Amino acid sequence: MSYQNPVFIPGPTNIPEVIRKACDMPTVDHRSPAFARIFKPALAGVKAVLGTRAGEVILFPSTGTGGWEAAISNTLSPGDTVLAARFGMFSHRWIDMCQRHGLNVEIIETPWGEGAPLAAIEAALAADASHRIRAVLATHNETATGVKSDIAGIRKAMDRAKHPAMLFVDGVSSIGSMPFEMDGWGVDIAVAGSQKGFMLPAGLAILGLSPRAVAAMDTATLPRTFFDFRDMMRTYAAGGYPYTPAVGLINGLATSVQMLQDEGLANVYARHHRIAEGVRRAVAAWGMRPCAASSDLYSDTVTAVVVPEGFNGTDIVKLAAEKYGMAFGVGLGEVAGKVFRIGHLGSLTDAMMLAGLATAEMCMADLGYPITLGAGVAAAQDHYRNSAGEAAKAA
Ligand code: PLP
Repeated sequence: MSYQNPVFIPGPTNIPEVIRKACDMPTVDHRSPAFARIFKPALAGVKAVLGTRAGEVILFPSTGTGGWEAAISNTLSPGDTVLAARFGMFSHRWIDMCQRHGLNVEIIETPWGEGAPLAAIEAALAADASHRIRAVLATHNETATGVKSDIAGIRKAMDRAKHPAMLFVDGVSSIGSMPFEMDGWGVDIAVAGSQKGFMLPAGLAILGLSPRAVAAMDTATLPRTFFDFRDMMRTYAAGGYPYTPAVGLINGLATSVQMLQDEGLANVYARHHRIAEGVRRAVAAWGMRPCAASSDLYSDTVTAVVVPEGFNGTDIVKLAAEKYGMAFGVGLGEVAGKVFRIGHLGSLTDAMMLAGLATAEMCMADLGYPITLGAGVAAAQDHYRNSAGEAAKAA
């Protein structure tokens, strides 16, 4: 079997050797104090990464999708209204899940490539005089389009509208890689997954809950058992777990949060920004553009590159895998074929990124794209050389 290493998909991300080894451990009795010794530092580290002191952290053996379900099913009741903007595959899927749970979703349709529309969110909340809207759902980083939304701005819009709705944020492809301030932004539930910024295999849904979200679970009547926060919180208090935890992944998580803190979260974010900016300069040198409509929306974890008319972005991804053993992301939904995605998050250096850009260039040259081999790589090299001091500081 051949492995693709490194990968440039927007998750799962490359797993550092030290994390891989931490996940690979002998069985530990999860009802013994040995488990608590692994679990507690993992929870504390996640709190720091989420930017919360006031919040609770909950880990499910699941993925980001399970995190979405846990968020809504623990805090809402059938027929409740939530407000969400749809501007990509992941915002769409969370909306779809809400509808399948019998929630009434007030959807703000937004063009793919745009971010959460602050003015429209504020207007919808201001128009909701009877406060039917119980929660605003926001996708911090729309992985399908490479668009970052302004969560602090959404909180301000909610405050300006004097609306009491809770704010639930999907940070699956941002948390641990891009600044996230759960307390500072007034986020009531933050959802993450293990396989992106935390650099682990898939298998953990990671949630942060504000005191308001915790209080909401007392009145919420949507059915939940496996995902019940109450069982989790009751058992965590004693360092335990309501069922069998994914101990190896939690041990890996404890290592991951330690690595992120050792590098320094500000340095982690600066590294992601630097690497992403190099990718964007390469894209410009190829004569192409990101799918994100404006530079303030550019994601530092994934760039969806719009391919020229007459080309299919999926062909680049197929060729990269078949000929060069390298993984990029295909376009999803509305932008399928129109883009290919370069993931640049997690365990990544400037030099690794250059290898990814060089391979993308080879694929494009093979497919007859009007690009000059080396042009994008050179643009990224210039950027990395000129911001090398930042890399050294982060090391
Ligand atoms: N939300 C976002 C922004 C994502 O990128 C993903 C997956 O890529 C998900 C949710 C779903 O997470 P999972 O695939 O871990 O269930």
